Amino acid sequence: MKKTNFTRVGCILFTFILCSNIGYSRILKKPIPDKLVVFTFDDATASHYSVVAPLLKKYGFGATFYVCEFQPNFKDTTKYMNWRQISELNKMGFEVANHALTHKAVNKLTKEKFIAELKCIDKKCDSVHIPISKNFAYPGYARDSSVVQTLIEQGYQFARIGNNRVYDPLVDHPLLTPSWCMGNKNKEQILAAYNEAKNGKVVVLTIHGVPDIEHPGVSTTPALFEEHLKYLSDNHFKVISIKELGKYINVKEAAKTIKPVIGK
Ligand SMILES: [Zn+2]
Repeated sequence: MKKTNFTRVGCILFTFILCSNIGYSRILKKPIPDKLVVFTFDDATASHYSVVAPLLKKYGFGATFYVCEFQPNFKDTTKYMNWRQISELNKMGFEVANHALTHKAVNKLTKEKFIAELKCIDKKCDSVHIPISKNFAYPGYARDSSVVQTLIEQGYQFARIGNNRVYDPLVDHPLLTPSWCMGNKNKEQILAAYNEAKNGKVVVLTIHGVPDIEHPGVSTTPALFEEHLKYLSDNHFKVISIKELGKYINVKEAAKTIKPVIGK
């Protein structure tokens, strides 16, 4: 009797390990290397064009720029990029992705209005020859299950949240990709976070303006930003865009296999 139970447990365990491995191999196209970091920049601030892009080029780093027309001051070019500058980022090889047109909390919008905000950014990108991205960042990290469902229906791949924790592609739904938010006051926290880019996990950063004139609370000084770049370069980290995660992750399979947990 005992032997039968032992065999049964063994069988269940074997099946579980086999299934886990099949899931694993389907979600990952290839192993995620240690020291993989994703840079994402929000809100189309003027400094993304004038400060960030040249520095990223200097260090050979990739990045995603989540753009919107931040209201009411988007037209103030001392604060925000214009669409010609946004298109220059694309020409420089960076990803331009969707942050919803007016930066409203998208969980407070009707489904129709949310889709209209997404499509408006697509249209503006298309008008300046930027390829349409299917990656999104929730303005203010605001989300709920119906917003995630809309993103699924609209064919979105990755959508970035906050949460200050590492992204585990085998656990986190790609439409709820966690990130740390860089700023002037958390240098040590971010330096510690880089150490978590190992064992198949990826460190994703949310970065606002460098500096961010209109939102000093999320600003990073150019000097501190370059300190981060130098640290990552000196310690042989690879810095890529969200889109480039698609080289490692089968996003469709991950979205199908992993249950979305909306979180805080
Ligand atoms: Zn934002």
